[in-house]
Amino acid sequence: MKITAIEPLVCHARMRNWIFVKIVTDQPGLIGWGEATLEWHTRSVVGAIQDIAELIVGEDPRRIEHLWQMMFRQHFWHGNGIVRGTAISGIDLALWDIAGKIAGVPCSQLWGGRVRDYVRTYCHLGGGNMEKFYETSIDDARSFADLARAAVAEGYTAFKSMAVPPTMPLEGLRAVKHAEAAVAAMRDAVGDDVDIMVDCHARPSPAMGLKFGQALDPYGLYFFEEPCWPEAVDGLAAINAAITTPVATGERVTDLRTFQELFAKRACDVCQLDITHCGGLTAARKVAALAEAHRIALAPHNPQGPVSTAASLEFGFSQPSYIICETVHADVPWRTDVVEEGFTMEPQGRIVRPNTRPGLGITINERAVAQHPFQQELPQRVFYPDGSVGDW
Ligand SMILES: [Mg+2]
Repeated sequence: MKITAIEPLVCHARMRNWIFVKIVTDQPGLIGWGEATLEWHTRSVVGAIQDIAELIVGEDPRRIEHLWQMMFRQHFWHGNGIVRGTAISGIDLALWDIAGKIAGVPCSQLWGGRVRDYVRTYCHLGGGNMEKFYETSIDDARSFADLARAAVAEGYTAFKSMAVPPTMPLEGLRAVKHAEAAVAAMRDAVGDDVDIMVDCHARPSPAMGLKFGQALDPYGLYFFEEPCWPEAVDGLAAINAAITTPVATGERVTDLRTFQELFAKRACDVCQLDITHCGGLTAARKVAALAEAHRIALAPHNPQGPVSTAASLEFGFSQPSYIICETVHADVPWRTDVVEEGFTMEPQGRIVRPNTRPGLGITINERAVAQHPFQQELPQRVFYPDGSVGDW
């Protein structure tokens, strides 16, 4: 059995260009689907996929670990940068899809079988609509409350908000008070039975992340995401030690060694590895083993397209430490046109019942994808009031 082609397919989904990866084999009808979406780096990832294809076209797709080693280590440069890591991930997902199809079982069955009956999901405020999630003003606590109620009305038991604004390395009370008011309004709106998450997008410095973390701690957040740059491992560890709310991070981490450091220093209690960036399901399973040794929960980053979601769910059905699947459903109205999925989501509670189809259980509608060709992603840039550069 041989890989005969690796084809990236770009599908413009407004905020992101989804990059689907199709692996074709010499077996009639046997193809695999992966995803390698990396917003604002679409052309780079497509090029990286084409470069890596030179290494593995002609190889046996069943030797996934062997191919992963080739993709990561060969031609001198290791594959732990974000562009190449994403390209490797997309190919790796497609290889696991093929492996499941060969065996005739969902991928989770390849990894020891299901460990749970369903996977819980959470949404972004506004369902992932860009303006509602990213551009609701931090001084508009009432809108945060309204969006929180809407998420619960849609059946969700957990949601994420962007309630921490961009801040300079040190600021006074104003931003902290606004963040606290927004979170207090959401908690008032939905009560204690719904889980609220706050994503700081690594906007704050460690010092400001600590201020926000302490101010929001009384509201019982499910987790507090990226309170400072992921590179600031000691800063994350200090915040995680200072508050009872679990700190989450990991979506920008692409090598096992950094995950190991984050866990050993207790810089997080929730690991948000991104299966489409960290080296695919092959690497994700290694990260999961490391996390399990530290009793750290897994909540993979997943704001991308539908193959990423299918991969996260198969992973979740196989991993005891997996707690919840991130989802977006209102980023583009035609989201479900491009894919057929093997799992079912129950509208009440938004829990996902297992995929019953082989592999990742998805079929990509290539004609629907072709209706949304590449467009440059919308810019999302932050400058502080004095004109200096901030983090989005
Ligand atoms: Mg995030």
